[in-house]
Amino acid sequence: MTSSLDIARESYRSISLYAPNRAPARVDLSDNTNLWGVPPAAARAIAGAVAGAAVTRYPNLYAAELKRELAAYLGAAPDTVVTGCGSDDVLDSAVRAFGEPGDRVAVPDPSFAMIPIFARMNALEPVLVPLTGDFDADADAMLATGAKLIYLCSPNNPTGAALRPETIERVVREAPGVVIVDEAYQEFSDRPSATRLLAASERLLVCRTMSKAFGIAGLRVGYAAGAPSLVAEVEKSRGPYKVNALAERAALAALREDLPWVRARVAEAVENRGRLAERLRALGLAPVPSQANFVLVPFRGACDVARRMRDAGIAVRPFDDLGDRLPAFAAAGGEGLRISVGPWDVLEEMLAALADALGG
Ligand SMILES: *Cc1c(COP(=O)(O)O)cnc(C)c1O
Repeated sequence: MTSSLDIARESYRSISLYAPNRAPARVDLSDNTNLWGVPPAAARAIAGAVAGAAVTRYPNLYAAELKRELAAYLGAAPDTVVTGCGSDDVLDSAVRAFGEPGDRVAVPDPSFAMIPIFARMNALEPVLVPLTGDFDADADAMLATGAKLIYLCSPNNPTGAALRPETIERVVREAPGVVIVDEAYQEFSDRPSATRLLAASERLLVCRTMSKAFGIAGLRVGYAAGAPSLVAEVEKSRGPYKVNALAERAALAALREDLPWVRARVAEAVENRGRLAERLRALGLAPVPSQANFVLVPFRGACDVARRMRDAGIAVRPFDDLGDRLPAFAAAGGEGLRISVGPWDVLEEMLAALADALGG
């Protein structure tokens, strides 16, 4: 009898299925989605589309209409945008498009957990490069890897900190190959977007999503902007029909009619993020300064505290692998909680459960 390992592609053998604890919780602050709900025009667009040809026919090949609307949102030209089934799909497609098997992908550590997985899935080698002590990417060390692909995330998940604009500029200027800047949380940040560097670089891909600020994570709409020659390669690698018809309609409606709604929710999230950080400090914790819609709190025993909070019906995201190379994380034994920012009454409920769990 052959074991499944014998038939699996070699680069897949060290990969396990992505399995964060997604058991339903009364209050879920674990995945940084929009806790205010679905943008209203997007909700109407889905309801209006189910009866018609949107379901029986294939969707657009490469979501041309959506690319035009996303380009307008970014202030870019339509042929500089590629879409995907979530930005996960765009990131995976980009890794595959620009990396040959065996090539290296430089990834900050800690950062978005899916990137090393996408690297391995495409037979590339992830090279983890620790963040600096002030939560910036280490440009020298990332460039020194000589990696053909460099990934940066700003604001970074899970730290929430934005990278310094000069750091991103320098990596884009000096990198030997393609640089991906993941801006999944850019809407919550007051730092300039890396899209401003697109005109000067043929090798920069700025990745965005409609899963966080736009509130449609379940519909899976991601996108990226870059030079036309660059996004064409990502599009080939991605393949046709990846944004389904209902998702495209909802995304179009959100971009055309829901921007004021989205901006108001983002403003509320930014305000609540500040209030939350203050309350966490009052509990004796030291949240990392955040430019995203979540806050990372490193402290020893965080995983135990997360378990107790979950028993009380509140889900937050525990980490036990933040490492010991950054002083803030070493002092916490590599543990921390990442807490999504939502409406204030929800955060109050979370804070009560957190205070109980810390005391217990
Ligand atoms: C949530 C997240 C994504 C994935 O978003 P989808 O568009 O839902 O696939 C990408 N990058 C980072 C850093 C994220 O936190």
